[in-house]
Amino acid sequence: MQKGQIGVTTENIFPVIKKFLYSDHEIFLRELVSNAIDATQKLKTLASFGEFKGELGEMDVRVKVDKEAGTLTVSDRGIGMTAEDIDKYINQIAFSGAEEFVNKYKDTANAIIGHFGLGFYSAFMVAKKVEIRSLSYKEGAEAVCWECDGSPEYSMGPADKTERGTDIVLYIDDDNKEFLEQARIDTLLKKYCRFLPVPVISGKVQEWKDGKYVDTDKDKVVNDTEPTWTKKPSELTDEDYRKFYRELYPSQEDPLFWIHLNVDYPFTLTGILFFPKIKSNLDIRKDRIQLYCN
Ligand code: ADP
Repeated sequence: MQKGQIGVTTENIFPVIKKFLYSDHEIFLRELVSNAIDATQKLKTLASFGEFKGELGEMDVRVKVDKEAGTLTVSDRGIGMTAEDIDKYINQIAFSGAEEFVNKYKDTANAIIGHFGLGFYSAFMVAKKVEIRSLSYKEGAEAVCWECDGSPEYSMGPADKTERGTDIVLYIDDDNKEFLEQARIDTLLKKYCRFLPVPVISGKVQEWKDGKYVDTDKDKVVNDTEPTWTKKPSELTDEDYRKFYRELYPSQEDPLFWIHLNVDYPFTLTGILFFPKIKSNLDIRKDRIQLYCN
């Protein structure tokens, strides 16, 4: 069992994270799912270069709520991490002058988290304890478990995990019980993960039975991994465009027309520009832009 201090230059980064970044607690989920997707994509890339020769198998990312245990788990079957990786990427977070910086930008949690690669640590905004259980794709790798309760001390030791990839287990704290509700998690996944390129599974597909909704045993995929704008215009019918528009703006009439954009220079941009029908009583809404970036 290895014990150590997380490499932060301030006394203790966690109260800082908890105290100052509360404007946007929910973004921890986006950060953890993004990491899971990155890990998955990295392994696919290694496989395509012939650097990983094993079976890729199921590569879905799973988000699991366990209300009884009080945990939320994000799992992937990506590259995983060895103990050395965890030391390097998790324990030695480079965070010089953290407090000063956070004070300066306390309203912009996003900027801080993105800037410092503190994505993983945003888990401590909602969790009293976080566990990483991981098995690296590397040959002969041993599974490892890392655990931290929000103090700068962590412990790390062997784990009994036999499947490649990483589970991030969050023990949700009392102030954040909302993140143990499947409905809340579904809403967040829709908001942050709607078009991510790897299937994200959370909960079960439900069906109407005897006057109420009940879980079936079919996994629920929450995202669309191949949104319409990523497809070739020549492969799409008018109805495909209309259908996509209706999914995005359920209460709107069909659009008047649209332009499928595919720009290579001076920047890369793909997208669909929809032009709604203009009515005399046009209801101008100023908060309807949704931006999805890679
Ligand atoms: P960032 O993603 O911005 O680099 P994070 O704090 O979120 O910062 O993660 C730090 C590093 O930890 C990542 O760059 C990656 O190397 C590693 N990591 C985090 N989550 C995973 C995961 N699920 N699988 C493999 N590696 C991971």
